[in-house]
Amino acid sequence: MIVGFIGLGIMGRPMAKNLINAGYKLVVYDKYARVDDLTALGAEGAASCKETAARSDVLITMLPNSPHVKEAILGPGGVIEGIRPGSTVIDMSSIAPAVSQEVALALKARGVNFLDAPVSGGEPKAVDATLAIMVGGEQGVFDSARPILEKMGSSVVLVGDVGAGNVTKLANQVIVALNIAAVSEAFTLAVKAGVKPQAVFDAIKGGLAGSTVMNAKVPMILDGNFKPGFRIELHIKDLQNALDTAHALGVPLPLTAGVMEILQALKVDGEAASDHGAIVRHYEKLSKTEVRKARP
Ligand code: NAD
Repeated sequence: MIVGFIGLGIMGRPMAKNLINAGYKLVVYDKYARVDDLTALGAEGAASCKETAARSDVLITMLPNSPHVKEAILGPGGVIEGIRPGSTVIDMSSIAPAVSQEVALALKARGVNFLDAPVSGGEPKAVDATLAIMVGGEQGVFDSARPILEKMGSSVVLVGDVGAGNVTKLANQVIVALNIAAVSEAFTLAVKAGVKPQAVFDAIKGGLAGSTVMNAKVPMILDGNFKPGFRIELHIKDLQNALDTAHALGVPLPLTAGVMEILQALKVDGEAASDHGAIVRHYEKLSKTEVRKARP
């Protein structure tokens, strides 16, 4: 079985390495990034999306957003021009669900299967192959792709038809963004009221307010560490996709819209490439305080 992999950035590169380590033969392509480290591990390089697809039985894409996925799969020299009928395309990027459905329809007309399979967990879990993978598509296609997905993630769940994977990812991103904002708001209040943030964290993390987001982000915030992780500009992309999808369905998202404006303000402040934990900096600016460990 030959697996094509297009998009070897922060996430795609370690995911591709895990497939090589699991014994799959890989053909890799990235429009901008070098792939030498992967060819050194045994992968073969290709010169275009079309060529990658022509040499693959299963083709994975891990690209920034909807326009990149459309270009790579449906554009000139794209996957659709090279891929053989009966093959499967798995798009693991976080994109608009409507675009997943559009791409799936175009591929289906050529007899090609499609799954949208975005991930949660970030770079560390991509490296450890412990990503949470949420999949949209047909049961039979999912069943045959599952062994490959399980080499990249520890949780692989079919959530519905094509597009459902990205709907689930949007829900995930709304919850994460609002959770970081809630933590930032609450910790800013506590610090301004004179309580040590480490003490607040220790006291509440095991209670109802505790969360995976709190456990991951508060230690980083207390250290003033805003190195990504997950960049603010990527979270803006995800919330924009959430707002567009929701509005098309007649679903207002008032809290998501509020946090989107905080992210936009941070972008103006030069924080686009900071970790999304930097949401706290917006609150710190508003209240003229800092949520950090007390310095000795
Ligand atoms: P990235 O920008 O590091 O990597 C994307 C890669 O795609 C780049 O190497 C780029 O050169 C390549 N590329 C762009 N357009 C291309 C094209 N037309 N053809 C071929 N290659 C092309 O992004 P990333 O952080 O790896 O994220 C990828 C996806 O995973 C995004 O949708 C992101 O939202 C999602 N995601 C990221 C994280 C994270 O923590 N970084 C976590 C979960 C999900």
